[in-house]
Amino acid sequence: MIELKSSEEIGRMAVAGQFVGELLAELRGVAAVGVNLLDIEHHARRRIKERGAESCYWDYAPSFGRGPFRNVLCLSVNDAVLHGLPHDYVLRDGDLLSIDMALGIDGWNADSALSFVVGTPDPEDLKLIEATEVALAAGVAAAQPGGRLGDISAAIGDVAQSYGYGVNSEFGGHGIGRTMHEAPHIANSGRPGRGMTLHPGLTVAIEPWLCRSTDKIRYDEDGWTIRSADGSRTAHSEHTVAVTAAGPRILTGRP
Ligand code: MG
Ligand code: MG
Repeated sequence: MIELKSSEEIGRMAVAGQFVGELLAELRGVAAVGVNLLDIEHHARRRIKERGAESCYWDYAPSFGRGPFRNVLCLSVNDAVLHGLPHDYVLRDGDLLSIDMALGIDGWNADSALSFVVGTPDPEDLKLIEATEVALAAGVAAAQPGGRLGDISAAIGDVAQSYGYGVNSEFGGHGIGRTMHEAPHIANSGRPGRGMTLHPGLTVAIEPWLCRSTDKIRYDEDGWTIRSADGSRTAHSEHTVAVTAAGPRILTGRP
């Protein structure tokens, strides 16, 4: 069941989205060579509490994880791509970090992720990050009223392919609103013109993620972190987007 949101409800999601965007930008500034992942996690906890927001991750216990999750961030380093469990690790020069965060304000949620390199970047890592960002922009641009869900998937998959990366479609985007994960699932590859029609009021998280040299994943023994199967580096970019009569509207824009 897909709940279309009124423009007033989208406005409330945008309040959460604005805070997600601001906090992600702030966390990017906190993350640096020599900083412990746990310090980034605790910084986010403090800011979320100050804002009166509620983390969607805290106590989250999905079928794919060893729940409940007791953190407000997913921090995925290098070959870790999704659901990275914050742990006692000090960032090193050249590490590729993905920060993923979802939270709610007054019962309306927003979800966003970004990837970047701390210290000296490897050009191949920058290319991988760029591919996820370009794929995200293409997916957002395809979220047009009257379009189809497959248009978003195809747009993402086409960008990944143009950069020479394979796509894993086990995890992808999703509806979001009163809860973090709602129907529909949005695969990161697909065929245009297929799937449900995109109506104004549909709110979705679009989230391409890529591994440098594989489309296979493996689960870390921590029960949460998902890594590239071959140990190659990974990146992930995500925005919460509303389909409106005027076109797609990003709700988690960053300052
Ligand atoms: Mg997310
Ligand atoms: Mg998401």
